[in-house]
Amino acid sequence: MLQVSERLASLSPSATLAMAQKSSELKAQGIDVISLSVGEPDFNTPDHIKEAAKKAIDNNFSFYSPVPGYLELRKAIVEKLKTENGLTFTPAQIVCANGAKQAICNVLLSVVGRGDEVIIPAPYWVSYPEMVKIADGTPVIVYSDIESDFKITPAQLEAVITPKTKVLMLCSPSNPTGSVYTRDELKALVDVLVKYPDIIILSDEIYEHTNYLDKHVSIGEFAEVFERTVIVNGVSKGYAMTGWRLGWIAAPKWIADACNTLQGQYTSNPSTIAQKAAEAAYTGDQQCVADMRAAFERRKNLVVKLAREIPGFKVNEPKGAFYIFPDCSYYFGKSYNDTAINNPEDLALYLLAEAHVACVGGTDFGAPNCIRMSYATSDEKLVEAFTRMKNALEKLK
Ligand code: PMP
Ligand code: GLU
Repeated sequence: MLQVSERLASLSPSATLAMAQKSSELKAQGIDVISLSVGEPDFNTPDHIKEAAKKAIDNNFSFYSPVPGYLELRKAIVEKLKTENGLTFTPAQIVCANGAKQAICNVLLSVVGRGDEVIIPAPYWVSYPEMVKIADGTPVIVYSDIESDFKITPAQLEAVITPKTKVLMLCSPSNPTGSVYTRDELKALVDVLVKYPDIIILSDEIYEHTNYLDKHVSIGEFAEVFERTVIVNGVSKGYAMTGWRLGWIAAPKWIADACNTLQGQYTSNPSTIAQKAAEAAYTGDQQCVADMRAAFERRKNLVVKLAREIPGFKVNEPKGAFYIFPDCSYYFGKSYNDTAINNPEDLALYLLAEAHVACVGGTDFGAPNCIRMSYATSDEKLVEAFTRMKNALEKLK
């Protein structure tokens, strides 16, 4: 029969990318849509990084590189991990990929088999459960809500651990909530994990540089679990390089080796030009990172204030990343003309139609009462977007 595989049939399309697509289609029709949907910095890639890429083209970095990336880049990442995170890795433990997205998939495909369970705290980034499914694993969701600042407790973690648990996925700062686990909170999770030495920790730290607490803490800093922690990171968010597609893992050698074997068979190395750009990002002046972080923090303060002025929204104070994730369930059961709102996706479509503002409903993030708004856009557009949304929401009765 001409049909897709069972694996594909059970896979959902990415809700974030679908909403981004919808809003660009409307923009192409000339409609003035403000996009708070896809999570990517609105800043241009810093000039010194672009220059490094231009130089790489002129210097003919146009051949395959080693599968995990050039040694120079992996050394720069090792140095970054040492100076910024106090962690010791060797270049052989670093595997660069086409974005953190592929890096995470590489790890899951390398260690998860049929029936293995992967614990995912909710709200989660939409792709995590789908990636686990691609690897034939079983996502085990642990729910948290706005009352616990969208963080799970050690007791919740321990309650879902079974002999089949293979991986715990963590994301701090979090997409979609902006929550950040403090050192003490991570330590409390580590105290549970030490009792279960066969669980691999996959720590997604892609929002490391948009952290509004004192300093980013990686769970890998805890010696008790370092030997089984995989750190995921990349240049997309911190250096405004989403389109360059360069992410990486720092992992126990046996997992890095497995990812190399896998990647060697299905994508080879990530783009050499992007690698040279990423090397410049890590070895160059870090002022650009601090500047962007400061802009995101200012916008965070702005949108939290604006969102709290909207009747019915319950808003947590994000400590990192560039999203707010209001509980919008107050609007469920309300309607305007023929449009009834029964879930956050209905609300997102209503806001797109009525306010020309694109957001993403929370259901695919494991949070069916919430709606995600990315504030990675200018202050002026944010003010305009929240004014439009407030007006549109007032019509719902
Ligand atoms: N992890 C999280 C939590 C993300 O939000 C993203 C953004 N898409 C990624 C990983 C992947 O980032 P990229 O593939 O652009 O490096
Ligand atoms: N991480 C971003 C988001 O959540 C990019 C889109 C994606 O890859 O999902 O919007």
